[in-house]
Amino acid sequence: MALDTRSDGPRVRFAPSPTGYFHVGGARTALFNWLFARQQGGSFLLRIEDTDTERNRDEWTEGIYGALTWLGLDWDERPVVQSERGRLYSEAVDKLVAGGHLYYCDCTREAVDARTRGAATPGYDGFCRERRLGPGPGRALRFRTPDEGSTVVSDLVRGEVVFQHATIEDFVLVKSNGAPLFVLANAVDDMDMGVTHVIRGEEHLPNTPKAILVWQALGGPRLPVFAHLPVLVNEKRQKLSKRRDPVALEDYRQQGYLPEAMRNYLVLLGWGPADGQEIMSLDDMVRAFRLTDVTRSPAFFDVRKLTHFDGEYIRAMSPERFIEACQPWLESGPWAPSAFDPEVFARMAPLVQERVATLAEVPAMVDFLFLDRAPIEEASWERAVAGDPAAAALLDDAIASYGTCPWTAEEIRGATLAVAERSGKKLAKAQAPIRVAVTGRTVGPPLFESLHLLGRDRTLDRLRAARDRMPIVGPDLID
Ligand code: GLU
Repeated sequence: MALDTRSDGPRVRFAPSPTGYFHVGGARTALFNWLFARQQGGSFLLRIEDTDTERNRDEWTEGIYGALTWLGLDWDERPVVQSERGRLYSEAVDKLVAGGHLYYCDCTREAVDARTRGAATPGYDGFCRERRLGPGPGRALRFRTPDEGSTVVSDLVRGEVVFQHATIEDFVLVKSNGAPLFVLANAVDDMDMGVTHVIRGEEHLPNTPKAILVWQALGGPRLPVFAHLPVLVNEKRQKLSKRRDPVALEDYRQQGYLPEAMRNYLVLLGWGPADGQEIMSLDDMVRAFRLTDVTRSPAFFDVRKLTHFDGEYIRAMSPERFIEACQPWLESGPWAPSAFDPEVFARMAPLVQERVATLAEVPAMVDFLFLDRAPIEEASWERAVAGDPAAAALLDDAIASYGTCPWTAEEIRGATLAVAERSGKKLAKAQAPIRVAVTGRTVGPPLFESLHLLGRDRTLDRLRAARDRMPIVGPDLID
């Protein structure tokens, strides 16, 4: 399919409905639209589809703006808000009524169900088609779909998808309370906004022939090109669901994922770069992205891969940027604000940066430096201290050695190596009880630097406190 070559470039839109938390699938759709617009020198428009007054909330609309801004997806022109455009939809309805494309219908759902139970073709049976009802309370407006022939959706991702008209019911465009329905507002706006490419989730494919019929009935100019993006699934290959899966973009943001990592991960959901180089800058994405290479098969939303990407992005940061990005997480750390020492953190930061996958993991890596006593994780204690018969003697030896060795990371390492040798353990194994006693956990930043930064006195205090929790060791227990 040739791309639009008009000098003003293609016009695409992202058209979310503010009916809930902004979904990662919505973010992927927004990104693909944005990349296409930026790559083609076109416009990326934003439209808030808030015609469902019962389900919309202002905070969800704010959430959409906030999410796009967080992801760095800037939009062109003033956002279009459907709830402000009632007149446009009424004019379109008048035109459709005048053209004989709509008819009033007063069938209740129950009546339709009773009549069509067991029918070969599902949906409305055209009962009111020829009744020539006028407007009135309880009457909806239905679109008169052609009985024969078909509508072909020309889709950049899925090819030509043919919908037989016989399978498309006379669908409602205006509810009995006068509210325009999705297909009407959506098609009228795409026409009015001069949209050239409709890029959206695959779940909208069945709506597309209806939108095309409405578009044609309104005498719209050239139809947009469609591109329906593959559905996102979880590891069980089930479509991602709001109730079952972690889909809210905001949750990822709050868990400390970086927008760059999220954006990079999202671009791979249904598309991949030809050279296989998956970690890519936004500029690279703009250059390499091809709407025509988007796949049809469902895309697995893999949180582990996203987390891996996040770690890669964290490690690629400059030390200064990393420290800056950590600030919101440090402000809510478990220590007293006055106990936090930015200089100590700055010295530890490069070691932490190497080891975290998300920023939310940072406080737990450094809390032992700023808490009076690092709370000891029971499972770690059981595994590395209580469960190790040699731990008590080893800690006693460490207390004695650390009491006298010069206090540099290198010297602490040397002293610990000697402790390890005396206990018959490898250095890595010997570190475990010391680390748990001092930091509370079995994992964390490198031990010798950690002890050095913590200081001799606090290190010894914590080792002694750990020893106090344990039985006294008799000489016969030491080899
Ligand atoms: N408002 C629709 C949705 O949130 C999108 C419609 C479209 O992109 O055409 O799913």
